Amino acid sequence: MNKVVIVGRPNVGKSTLFNRLVGKRLSIVHDMPGITRDALEAIVHWKDKSFWVVDTGGLLEDKDYIAQEIRKRVQELLNQASVILFMVDGKEGITHADRAVAELLYPYREKVFLVVNKMDVKKAKENLYDFYSLGFEKVYPISAQHGRGVGELLDDVVSMLPEEEVAQREGLRLSFVGRPNVGKSSLVNAVLGSDRVIVSPIPGTTRDAVEVYFEYKGNPLILVDTAGIRRPSKVEYGVEFFSVGRSIKAIEMSDVVCLVVDLSEGVVHQDQRIGGLIARRYKGCVIVGNKFDLINSTEEEVKEYLRKRLSFLDYAPIVLTVATEGKGVRELLDNVLLVYQDYCKQHKTSFVNRCVEKVLSEKAPPGRIKVYYAYQESTKPPTFVLYTNNPEEWKSHYKKFFERRLRECTNIKHAPIRLILRSRE
Ligand code: GDP
Ligand code: GDP
Repeated sequence: MNKVVIVGRPNVGKSTLFNRLVGKRLSIVHDMPGITRDALEAIVHWKDKSFWVVDTGGLLEDKDYIAQEIRKRVQELLNQASVILFMVDGKEGITHADRAVAELLYPYREKVFLVVNKMDVKKAKENLYDFYSLGFEKVYPISAQHGRGVGELLDDVVSMLPEEEVAQREGLRLSFVGRPNVGKSSLVNAVLGSDRVIVSPIPGTTRDAVEVYFEYKGNPLILVDTAGIRRPSKVEYGVEFFSVGRSIKAIEMSDVVCLVVDLSEGVVHQDQRIGGLIARRYKGCVIVGNKFDLINSTEEEVKEYLRKRLSFLDYAPIVLTVATEGKGVRELLDNVLLVYQDYCKQHKTSFVNRCVEKVLSEKAPPGRIKVYYAYQESTKPPTFVLYTNNPEEWKSHYKKFFERRLRECTNIKHAPIRLILRSRE
């Protein structure tokens, strides 16, 4: 999906704008290990287009901004962005820090929108024209706090977004992600080589993605990944096929993501990070503990360990495999189907409301929260809209409890759900 990235020095109003765009109804800001350094992201819908908006706030404010890793992450985001919103503070005028950011963005100037914020303050109007000296053509005066100019900005942003690729074939879109050497290519080969799997001879290719179609128990599956597949079946998949940078793209293109962990090394920070990316995008997930042959623990012990270390993926089934021997591969595919079934579930409004009532009666929401009405807006992921008097009063721990119980009640055991809180006066 297209990305719109917000950058700017601290205090110019980035998070205010972010919250306004996202409307707080969908706070993706999960409290998860391993993603503290990441930018904030959420999906925005505007005039029948959707895009990810990313607030780089935390990244640029980081004291070791100079640190290679962060620089790389920012650079990566800027490269990926379809549009960059460069925010400055109209009230303060141009500062050294603004110039530093401008320099960083200059190579991307074609897609930079210079957003001059705080136009509700008189001084900002006087300063506005100074900002043209930063060298960007598209200048948008706004007030993030009051919402002024934001609609016009969004209109122009979506008109700049390239058309998205559409998936040409129907089927369950599946990918394998994980750190290098955990056994992803061995698993892909084991899956495609399994005697229950029928691989279609021609890999489909889209502009920058490669897809392999296969069937399992009568279900069409599409193995998606970006660039690098050489032949569809019985081939060695090179390491470069699965570089970490690509996993984000692979996750975005999938319905179900297999998060592969090397059991001989245990769950490390990077595994949690990738897991966090899957959870935040509301993708179906199967946790695959591979290289089970290399450790001496029981299946139960291992599963308990994985569950604990990847607790934010509490909906994901866990499968243990020995990729090199093809062990566990069928169970893996069976679980992929199971997750997908839940991921596609659609419930009637009356049923959803009964479930909502049940959850509310079990544990009343804190404060003065009321829920008026609920319905399921879409599937993949199952997305529920709740009309409530005050979306902002929903604290994250109550929301988590609510999500978990709603999943149970609606019998969506193995897939994530998305909760959208809308306000109704
Ligand atoms: P960030 O550090 O760039 O994310 O900036 P914040 O969004 O936290 O905003 C910094 C300060 O500017 C806060 O006190 C906001 O209330 C204020 N602010 C943000 N947008 C506006 C605006 O449009 N007008 C005015 N007057 N203040 C704003
Ligand atoms: P990738 O980088 O994630 O694609 O990992 P590979 O599939 O290339 O596997 C990395 C190494 O781990 C290779 O030497 C594989 O033979 C080995 N390997 C993969 N799966 C297993 C397994 O289940 N057990 C053992 N013992 N080795 C494995």
